[in-house]
Amino acid sequence: MTIALKPAHLRLPPGPVDLTAIDSGATPGVDDGKKAGEAALAGLGDELSALQERLYAEGVAGIGPGRAVLLVLQGMDTSGKGGTLRHTVGLVDPQGVRISSFKKPTKEELEHDFLWRIRKALLGKGIIGVFDRSHYEDVLVVRVHQLAPKDEVERRYDAINAFEAELAAAGVTFIKCMLHISAETQKERLLARLEDPTKHWKFNPGDIDERAHWPAYREAYEIALERTNTEVAPWYVVPSDHKWYRNLAIGALLHDTLSHMNPQWPRADFDVEEQKRRLADEKPVA
Ligand code: AMP
Ligand code: MG
Repeated sequence: MTIALKPAHLRLPPGPVDLTAIDSGATPGVDDGKKAGEAALAGLGDELSALQERLYAEGVAGIGPGRAVLLVLQGMDTSGKGGTLRHTVGLVDPQGVRISSFKKPTKEELEHDFLWRIRKALLGKGIIGVFDRSHYEDVLVVRVHQLAPKDEVERRYDAINAFEAELAAAGVTFIKCMLHISAETQKERLLARLEDPTKHWKFNPGDIDERAHWPAYREAYEIALERTNTEVAPWYVVPSDHKWYRNLAIGALLHDTLSHMNPQWPRADFDVEEQKRRLADEKPVA
């Protein structure tokens, strides 16, 4: 299958956001089904891996100002952040990837500004950073459950934009993905977890309580997406009712991003011929 799927299929246009108008079961840019989609993702693997290695090599060699990718995964429970890590991010060399999962903040984290723990998780040059949840929780769950004063939440959208602009200027390319599922899909996935004893560890009874807040979460997402959908850190809404499509779409976004960055193999900073001669002339070492 040739992949017609392009970032433009997923890019959230600027302006007000209505998530109910975006079909979470759609497969934009892909006409074939699951089998072909899985094969297409596997086909992307080699190239993704080669691009990532070049980015990493650039970072090690200290070429240019130092570049990195930051893949931000946001979505409701069961939307597939973990699955994306396994199936898509898992295609590249783990040495070049840093995954950070953001849970309920600790007491210490709560004593600092909300970006404190995020800054601590920032990456080095040449790395693909992946945020499993992120600073967006601080305007999502925090907004829905009023865990911070209203004016503090209001302040955070601009703070996020300033923070992301600062990182972008320092060489970070953002891929912000909202994993969009329907409430019905979440219900099916929670039920599947309950029916499979090997998945009980993933089940949290609180997730069912959170479902009562689905409309409030949708609204919080719509506000966050609209207010932080910037040129330097745009949002992609990834229809995620089909797991295979979600995995392929995020793979395609990563591939497109890395291709555009076009990282180059560093040139040797030594004389290759001279090093070959040294090995050839070597006296026995043992
Ligand atoms: P999970 O990703 O399913 O392991 O769950 C992590 C939980 O941590 C979710 O319920 C998030 O909403 C919660 N969480 C993450 N970041 C924050 C935050 N900044 N404030 C409050 N809760 C958070
Ligand atoms: Mg959970």
